[in-house]
Amino acid sequence: MKVLVLGSGQLARMMALAGAPLNLTVIAYDVTSNAVVHPLTLQEQSQSLAQAIAQSDVITAEFEHIPEPILSLCAESGKFLPTPEAIRAGGDRRLEKALLDDANVNNAPYAIIHNRVDFDHAIAAIGLPLVLKSALGGYDGKGQWRLKTAAESDAIWHEMAQLLEQDSRQAIVAEAFIPFDREVSIVGARDKNGHIAVYPLAENVHINGVLSLSTAIDAPELQTQAHAMFEAVATRLNYVGVLALEFFDVNGELLVNEIAPRVHNSGHWTQQGAETCQFENHLRAVCGLPLGSTKLVRHTAMINILGEDALPTQLLTLPECHIHWYGKEKRAGRKMGHINVCGDFPGELQRNVCALTQWLDSDKFPAIHQFAKQFELTT
Ligand code: ATP
Ligand code: MG
Repeated sequence: MKVLVLGSGQLARMMALAGAPLNLTVIAYDVTSNAVVHPLTLQEQSQSLAQAIAQSDVITAEFEHIPEPILSLCAESGKFLPTPEAIRAGGDRRLEKALLDDANVNNAPYAIIHNRVDFDHAIAAIGLPLVLKSALGGYDGKGQWRLKTAAESDAIWHEMAQLLEQDSRQAIVAEAFIPFDREVSIVGARDKNGHIAVYPLAENVHINGVLSLSTAIDAPELQTQAHAMFEAVATRLNYVGVLALEFFDVNGELLVNEIAPRVHNSGHWTQQGAETCQFENHLRAVCGLPLGSTKLVRHTAMINILGEDALPTQLLTLPECHIHWYGKEKRAGRKMGHINVCGDFPGELQRNVCALTQWLDSDKFPAIHQFAKQFELTT
């Protein structure tokens, strides 16, 4: 089968790699340059979007910020999965919040801001501190503000007003600041018959708003909560494909932070740690094939490589260490690849993550150095 993926980044690349053994051929569409490209080489194909749509059996997406005309065009073909509604909800925090409320899942109290009056109302209604997020176009913590004291409100309003002026469709979502204990996420798949298979939860460490370290964890009570919320959202959307839900863990109670209607960075560990990786399961779901097992087969953690295009080769001598490069040009802070580290049991995985600190600098990989320090304190 031929699968056209909207977006030509690392997620399309990893779908292509995972689909090949099943004879699922992926081609990618770069929405920035408007070109159909090979998902690994990024070489431009002599094909228009219309031709690619006509020649594909299924169309899906690797990200949610897809220009509306392209999304509508793909939806009209009747081949697009998951639903355009899911992509729109993932790309617009207003729709996302409405969806979460609709599906009856816990999320942070919020208000929508279009002007200064709304902003002042939000401060009065929700209280400080507030997290302010642009409704459209946010990712990796971009387009966000933290309002801690009333004294900062004029300066922050000034910046938000500029953003609102640039685009009449834009708005700001104000959320209560959640004093969470940790962040976790669930990645799972729903097939065309409504069958759901979820992976074990991942615990996520963000540094400067960007995911840095993600570890599959065994937390039965949280897993049950997350699974129920996953089911509620996926069913509400009549979703087909892989979907991710990010949560705040507050005293053992989960609140959804946001959803991602696609394969997710916190699911990259499944390439080494699960019976079937998230990329294969996404393709299986959208191609109408049975889902593969999401069982954990090895304790695994994922470390993002940000802004670096080379690592010490010695890492490859570590038997439990797997490097996945994305073939991208080096740019500061850019997601360039990731490392999956495994262990036969949780303690071994922890030791193997700590062992990486001898090769990876703390300024470039702060999360694993933090992890190693905590590990030393607790052992
Ligand atoms: P990403 O693309 O990495 O998922 P994003 O730009 O979509 O990020 P969010 O996930 O909404 O943004 O926020 C980024 C991070 O900011 C969260 O992972 C969390 O650490 C923190 N954060 C977001 N909302 C809140 C909140 N209401 N209370 C406390 N912290 C928050
Ligand atoms: Mg997020």
